[in-house]
Amino acid sequence: MRAVGFFPADGTVRVVDHPAPSRPGETEVRLRILDVGVCGTDREIAHGEYGSGPDGSPYLVLGHESLGEVIEVGAKVTGVGPGDLAVTMVRRPCGDPACPACAVGRPDFCVTGKFTERGIKGRHGFMTEEIVDDQRYVIVLPASLRSIGVLLEPLTIAEKALIERQDVVDRLPWRRPGSGRPAGHASDTAVVLGAGPVGLLGAMALLVRGYRTCIYSREPADSPEGAWARSVGAEYVCGRDVPLPELPGRLGNIDLVYEATGSADLAFQALPVLGVNGVFILTGVPAQKRPIEVDADQVMRDLVLKNQLVYGTVNAVRDAFEAGVADLVEFQRRWPAAVGAIVTGRSPPEACHDVLLGERSGIKQVISFDT
Ligand code: BGC
Repeated sequence: MRAVGFFPADGTVRVVDHPAPSRPGETEVRLRILDVGVCGTDREIAHGEYGSGPDGSPYLVLGHESLGEVIEVGAKVTGVGPGDLAVTMVRRPCGDPACPACAVGRPDFCVTGKFTERGIKGRHGFMTEEIVDDQRYVIVLPASLRSIGVLLEPLTIAEKALIERQDVVDRLPWRRPGSGRPAGHASDTAVVLGAGPVGLLGAMALLVRGYRTCIYSREPADSPEGAWARSVGAEYVCGRDVPLPELPGRLGNIDLVYEATGSADLAFQALPVLGVNGVFILTGVPAQKRPIEVDADQVMRDLVLKNQLVYGTVNAVRDAFEAGVADLVEFQRRWPAAVGAIVTGRSPPEACHDVLLGERSGIKQVISFDT
């Protein structure tokens, strides 16, 4: 079976003849892989900077952003059947009885660090023709999402962040459901840092929740990214034209910043734009670079005097995946062209070297096995 493997011994990424999975067990599902998205994490793995293969394997099958079609299910599987479109979750519990998070099905909050992740850490991923996994990790999508279903996993970053955001909002008594005030975030302003796939998907998730949303990124205002933002009803501000400190003057109180660049420099420069009772969400994983200067007094004063919260978020489980399915359906209803435009290229597995190690091009590159 064809698979795309990263070989740490010589640093190559190539198609490998990978053993086909065994028949699904009673609670397992067998999927034919259609699409696998490529993200910054995959590129870091391909450069030997992150991740690890399963013990004893000379390679790691890459890919954690998948879309497949169910071809066989075990005798005890319910709610998933042959022909269903499905996405498989990434992280698996650490199995350590001392981990309270994994014990309750929240490996995304694993405390031991011994979790595994398909295509990233200790487990083969989805860039292969077929996979088998337990039904607990399989999310069914409506057939209408065939062309964009591969965006579900990167969307779950925003979904989890916004589920957590609800708990944060709940600490404000006048914002709690049942407080008599209108539900939703109609009066809130959000800034998304970065116009890559995570930023654009996050912007759409914020827009459907009623946030006034501004994407702040380095591409010029008349770039495809700027046009994309305006087409979904977001504002677009080019970082080269407008310095960060001018953002509050243009937008008013900024209630939420969603960082989707992986740049610690930009993130820490952006902290001072966060408004009263604001929330700053970090999603990027920066490579280790030279230390940067931060006005720590200003940051701490703001955090305290403005009741601000900064949190990071990684990985996601079923609640975020299910919220993401509902959002993808809504994105497709509201902005079919814009959501479709996020997938900018589909390449066969044989093009893996260029897609993973070559110049970045477009927004979301996909390796497609559906040929
Ligand atoms: C994936 C997550 C994963 C994280 C850290 C991200 O690219 O989307 O599922 O937990 O990398 O390995």
